[in-house]
Amino acid sequence: MKLFINGKTKEVPDSITVKQLLEYESVEMPQYVSVQINEEFVRRELFEQTYLSEGDKVDFLYYMGGGQQAGPGDLTMEQVERYSRQLILEEVGLAGQQKLLGSSVLLVGVGGLGSPAAYYLAAAGVGRLGLIDYDKVEMNNLQRQILFNAGDVGKLKVQAAAKTLSALNPDLQIETYPYRLSDTTALSLIKDYDFVIDATDGFANKFLVNDACFFAGKPFVHAGILRFEGQVITVLPGKTTCYRCLFPTPPPSGAVPSCAQAGIMGVLGGFMGVLQATEAIKYLLGKGELLTDRLLYLDARQMYFHQINTGRSPNCLLCGENPVITELSEEHVTCPAAAAKEAGSDENF
Ligand SMILES: [Zn+2]
Repeated sequence: MKLFINGKTKEVPDSITVKQLLEYESVEMPQYVSVQINEEFVRRELFEQTYLSEGDKVDFLYYMGGGQQAGPGDLTMEQVERYSRQLILEEVGLAGQQKLLGSSVLLVGVGGLGSPAAYYLAAAGVGRLGLIDYDKVEMNNLQRQILFNAGDVGKLKVQAAAKTLSALNPDLQIETYPYRLSDTTALSLIKDYDFVIDATDGFANKFLVNDACFFAGKPFVHAGILRFEGQVITVLPGKTTCYRCLFPTPPPSGAVPSCAQAGIMGVLGGFMGVLQATEAIKYLLGKGELLTDRLLYLDARQMYFHQINTGRSPNCLLCGENPVITELSEEHVTCPAAAAKEAGSDENF
């Protein structure tokens, strides 16, 4: 029978499966070839039982050509093997993987949220990760901050984190910033990255990330965790609901308990941090639907997920019709009445 294989008409035996066709065509390294029949991807596990019919249009998508070492812009053999489980996803493929390798994400905080987020981004092959955190690893962090081990106690978090992430994936470029995000450093830092993960702890930092991303025009994903609860939302500044649309100004210091005061189940950071990494990967790939204009809330005690649809507030102090905040300033990220007491109130998540 005749098939149209990669644009050419070819005569092949009748009643042939995809697996047999790969053999018949002497396709090299068939484990790294994706197959489309009539422009529909065929799942690898179905190669053996999927039969071709007369006139089918068959496309082989090669991650590698001719069994030779990859050329510029292509993946190395090791990368093909490392990312093979996502390369076969239609939403990723070779082009998506190259996008991820060419992308950058800034993690503001590498604690309870930042640890799992960074771990999965590194594993997925996001090419450049920026880590900003001025804290040192403490013993009480190990209950949830999975980038660190007992031997890291006393070390700078960004250094310990970079070591763990590099060990996982030596392909990556990891930039470390062992200082506090401030209104003077935030904009230039954020401009250098494609996407930002708000993995901060105190409210001042959460408002600072929101405001800085707005002025830098960078998308980011917010998450907050406390006790057994967590929330997450992605923000495309100027286009979708921002953190200030939902929470106009920071609460007075002490009005909302910190994790150090109220406690935190370590897995909550895992839940929310992994959701943040998922949003980052979707954004970088340009696939799926982002968690914008809806706040996802989790109460892990009941394992209750709830989605609150939101919209941009016309009265938002930052992105509303008559904005009050017109430049990045730390004056706007602390509760005015409590500003004097705020200094040093950050807690470790
Ligand atoms: Zn807003």
